[in-house]
Amino acid sequence: MSQSVCILGVTGSIGQSTLKILQLHPEEYSVFAVTAHSRIVELVEICKQFRPKIAVVPLQKVDELRQLLIANQLSEIEILHDEAGLIAAAEHPNVDVVMAAIVGAAGLLPTLAAAKAGKRVLLANKEALVMSGDIMIQTARENNALLLPVDSEHNAIFQCLPQNYLQENRNGQPKMGVKQILLTASGGPFLHHSLEQLQSVTPAQACKHPNWSMGQKISVDSATLMNKGLELIEACHLFAVEEQFVTVVVHPQSIIHSMVQYVDGSTLAQMGNPDMCTPIAHALAWPERIQTHVPPLDLFLHSQLNFEEPDTVRFPALKLARQAMKAGGLAPTILNAANEIAVAAFLTEQIGFTQIPQVVEHTLGQVENAAAVSIDVILQADHTARIVAEKAVLNLGS
Ligand code: NAD
Ligand code: MG
Repeated sequence: MSQSVCILGVTGSIGQSTLKILQLHPEEYSVFAVTAHSRIVELVEICKQFRPKIAVVPLQKVDELRQLLIANQLSEIEILHDEAGLIAAAEHPNVDVVMAAIVGAAGLLPTLAAAKAGKRVLLANKEALVMSGDIMIQTARENNALLLPVDSEHNAIFQCLPQNYLQENRNGQPKMGVKQILLTASGGPFLHHSLEQLQSVTPAQACKHPNWSMGQKISVDSATLMNKGLELIEACHLFAVEEQFVTVVVHPQSIIHSMVQYVDGSTLAQMGNPDMCTPIAHALAWPERIQTHVPPLDLFLHSQLNFEEPDTVRFPALKLARQAMKAGGLAPTILNAANEIAVAAFLTEQIGFTQIPQVVEHTLGQVENAAAVSIDVILQADHTARIVAEKAVLNLGS
């Protein structure tokens, strides 16, 4: 039977790659709901092609969307708005699969709603899991939701772990013969820049990733290595291991997407061309496999695969994230909120590149850590951290 899909963040990089896969399999999947924060003209193009039943936009975009839908004879599409609309789309009884591809903390409540409603949740929105951690995992478990990693590294790890690994007990220790997880990082566009060179890099340079084409926020995160920091936290939650069991390995070619080491000396790697269509297709169809347009890996074109240790002096964000995971509680939420503010300030040229981790470190020092006992407590910490980080940005700018 055909699966009905809700794509949160359909106009983004992951949203677009998801549509590419769905388009290849019209018998198996239909698009039921789509959401976008901006780029309404593109959203309407998507509606024309995929004919969803529901479209969700911010309230101030509703009129624009309605007029464009009417002009395109698509007035039967129901328009919902704001966070309540995102949640309603994610938990809709007609939806089987939710692609969580909103960027940042804005995706938290809709992703959680999908978990609560017992959907197959394809998790791209790592910030949501970094913030909510155990609550997201527990919610998914209690409601029989399938939380499948789309982030290429986590999807790779998932593929390299033993079957049923995630059903086993979760006590922070690796199990079933697993020794450690090797989380690979491309190192981003500034891998070999000196600290001095890093001080003057521009947003345009930071957004030009050597191997992947992605949204602006994650591109900057990849350049600071905060993306790997967030992914370290994401891996600890998804695979129920403490941070010391996750080692970050810089691998500039992005051909190996991550690895799992076993106690018998085996290391399993998942490899492929760097294209998000592969992990998206894997998460959509798991445990089956479906066709994509991604060409098979030609190893003769990749005669060298390199590995190096990350440098946390030039890239302190990775160290900050590891410390936040170790500290636990609200620290990952505070880290994430401060990073979102700092990245936005860098993109609008209010602060320099090397000031991004400075804002994060300052905020972590200022906002009190406590147990992350509920989503309300997490959202409050997110809010407080944003205010502190915004002040830090102003101070650095003046
Ligand atoms: P993007 O910026 O290209 O797209 C983001 C989407 O979210 C857009 O549809 C946008 O309209 C929507 N959005 C933005 N702000 C919103 C808000 N406040 N409320 C509701 N919707 C909002 O981002 P992306 O690169 O597609 O990344 C999406 C998520 O997937 C991120 O969490 C990112 O870390 C993760 N991810 C992306 C990649 C990649 O290759 N792009 C890889 C792994 C993980
Ligand atoms: Mg990734």
